[in-house]
Amino acid sequence: MESIQDHLKALMNRGEITNQYHTILKEKVFADPDVKAFFANHQDSLDKDAIMKSASNLYEFVRQKEKRKANQPSLIYGHDPRLVLFNNRIHVEYVPSREEIDRRKSLEAKNRIKTMYISKDVVEANFDDLKTTSGKMEAINATLDFIEDYSTSPSDFHQGLYLYGSFGVGKTYLMGAMAKHMSEQGFQVTLVHFPTLCVEIKAGIKDNTVGERVQPYKDAEILILDDIGAETLTAWLRDEVLGIILQHRMQQNLSTFFTSNFSFKQLEDEHLRKASGDEPVKAARLMERIKYLAKDIQLVGKNQRQS
Ligand code: ADP
Ligand code: MG
Repeated sequence: MESIQDHLKALMNRGEITNQYHTILKEKVFADPDVKAFFANHQDSLDKDAIMKSASNLYEFVRQKEKRKANQPSLIYGHDPRLVLFNNRIHVEYVPSREEIDRRKSLEAKNRIKTMYISKDVVEANFDDLKTTSGKMEAINATLDFIEDYSTSPSDFHQGLYLYGSFGVGKTYLMGAMAKHMSEQGFQVTLVHFPTLCVEIKAGIKDNTVGERVQPYKDAEILILDDIGAETLTAWLRDEVLGIILQHRMQQNLSTFFTSNFSFKQLEDEHLRKASGDEPVKAARLMERIKYLAKDIQLVGKNQRQS
C-alpha cells in the first residue's frame, strides 16, 4: 500500500500545489512531527483528498503550535491545538493546556474555600509550613484524623473540633491549613471570623436580610467558626443566630469546628450565660449543640504572633 508520505510526494511532484504553498506544506506542515505522527496513526482512514482539503487546517495547527511555543497569544487562551479526524477531514480542536488545567484546579480550590474576615497568613497556611510543638500535637493529630475520616466517607457525620487556648497559640492557623487542604481535596470549607460575622448579621436587621446572611453558614459543607467567645453577644445572637445555625447543622449532620480563647466551661459560664442577665438554661442548650458537633482540645504554647 502506498504510504501517505509517498502519496504527498507524488501529489507535489505532479504540481498540483502551487510553489509557495508547496514549500510551506512540505517544509513546515508535513515535516511537523505531530502531523507526521497523525498521518502515521491514521494511515488507513486518510486519503489524498482528505489531506488536501484539510491542508489549511493542518497549517493552522502548526502555526498555533509555534505560537504556543513562542509564548505568543494563542487562538484560544491556555489551549493547545490538537488534530482530529472526522467526516474524512482533519480538523483542529483546542484542548486546555497542562498549565491551564493546573491554573483552573487552583482557582477551583480557591472557590471551594470561603474565608471571611480572616488574615492573609492564615488563609495561606498549609501543613507543609505548619510548625508542630508538643502542646499542639493533640489538636494537629485530631485535625489530621478528621481529614482522613472525612475524605474516606464524606457523607457520614464526622464530629469537628473545638480548639481552645490562649491568644496567638495557632488555633486559627491550624484551621486555615485544614481548610486549604480540604478545599484542595474538593470539599467546600467556610472559615469565618465569628465576631465579625455577628456584626454583619446584626446589620441585616435594618434591611431585613438576616435570614439570607445566616443561610450560607447553616448550609456550609464544613464550617469553622473562628474565635467564638470574642463577639459581643446578645441573647438574640445566641439563640436566633448561633443557636439556629448549630441546630440546623446538627440535624443535617454537617461538620462544624470552633476556635476560642475559652474552654467549654468558660464559654458556658462566662460568655453564653451572660449574654443578657443570667440564663443558665439557654446557655446549657447551646452548649449541648456545640458539644454534639465538636470535641474540645486545648492548644498550649507560646504566642506566635509577630505583632
Ligand atoms: P490564634 O488563632 O490561636 O490566636 P493564630 O492561629 O492566629 O493564633 O496564630 C498566630 C500567628 O502565628 C499566625 O498568623 C501564624 O503566623 C503563626 N502560627 C501559628 N501557628 C503556627 C504554626 N503551627 N506554624 C507556623 N506558624 C504558626
Ligand atoms: Mg484566632
